[in-house]
Amino acid sequence: MNIVVVGAGISGLSSAYILAKQGHAVTIMAKDFYPSIVSNKAAAFWFPYHIRNDKRAIDWCKKSYAFFKEQSINKDTGISMIKIIKATKVPLLDETTWIDYMPTHSVKEIATNQLPEGYKRGHEAIVPLIETQIFLPWLTAQVIQLGATIIIEEVTNLNVLSEKFDCVINCTALGARDLCNDASVVPVRGQVVLLEPNIVDSIFIDNQSPAYIVPRKDATIIGGTYEENISEAITVKEALDEILNKAITISPDLANKKVIGNWAGLRPFRPEVRLEKEGNVIHNYGHGGSGYTLSFGCAEEVKKLVSESF
Ligand SMILES: Cc1cc2nc3c(=O)[nH]c(=O)nc-3n(C[C@H](O)[C@H](O)[C@H](O)COP(=O)(O)OP(=O)(O)OC[C@H]3O[C@@H](n4cnc5c(N)ncnc54)[C@H](O)[C@@H]3O)c2cc1C
Repeated sequence: MNIVVVGAGISGLSSAYILAKQGHAVTIMAKDFYPSIVSNKAAAFWFPYHIRNDKRAIDWCKKSYAFFKEQSINKDTGISMIKIIKATKVPLLDETTWIDYMPTHSVKEIATNQLPEGYKRGHEAIVPLIETQIFLPWLTAQVIQLGATIIIEEVTNLNVLSEKFDCVINCTALGARDLCNDASVVPVRGQVVLLEPNIVDSIFIDNQSPAYIVPRKDATIIGGTYEENISEAITVKEALDEILNKAITISPDLANKKVIGNWAGLRPFRPEVRLEKEGNVIHNYGHGGSGYTLSFGCAEEVKKLVSESF
């Protein structure tokens, strides 16, 4: 089939990759490509963040986990399997629901005396870390190698494309606000500080705070913020100072490490991911703070909808 994927973030690229592998003729049309996409601002480790109200996501997360784990054998992908420590200061009743999204029996509870000061409950697991600066160029190259055509263009009307192509995959994230008149997808800004690399060897996350520490090859990412309905992708000094101070209380050694940068990105949050067929358009957007965690699982669902429907 002749398929156009609109959007070149992780949702569009993963869909394009899976469909091109299946033998479809794929065109990727987007107004922005790597590096100018939100997907290049992600931390980006596998973790179900703000999606646990959606039970469909359990299967999508597990499939993405399996995909990334399999690809991590190839160092060119920039994916590694790494220890994550997830800790909380205020254990809630639904504290462990994230474990349902993990491969079975892969999570262990940690003794409280091994947690940073002030933390009351913690778990550890091994998860994929996807270094976007390596993975996104690699994935784009794979998709091109599989025969995909790339077009840099803003789409203003999906109906025009649905007449030209057998099928349209809509992976426009925040762009869907205008393109589909969908006001339920909103920006949630995330700011991060970058410290020098090679100073920690596992991921730490406290998603209530929110605070996270992520060791990439080119930087240690220190997050973060979760700012609903803020649509300027800029960093703010006070927020960056607070992010760093929070991280120093978790890991005091970070206090004397060199700050090498910062960035901000807008998560495309929707109360639920929109993954459904409408005519010959399949929508796949609204992945919020879990775009990587959901990506290849959602792409498999897109493939299923394409196979079943056309
Ligand atoms: C600070 C931060 C940390 C994060 N950390 C993680 C993490 O650790 N793990 C995780 O899983 N997720 C994380 N995320 C979330 C993740 O980055 C997003 O969920 C993901 O990038 C969304 O991908 P996407 O492809 O849907 O959107 P995008 O990357 O925004 O791509 C959208 C694409 O659609 C195109 N587009 C939009 N409108 C149009 C139009 N009208 N015409 C043509 N093209 C259009 C754009 O040009 C772009 O190519 C983080 C996000 C932030 C900001």
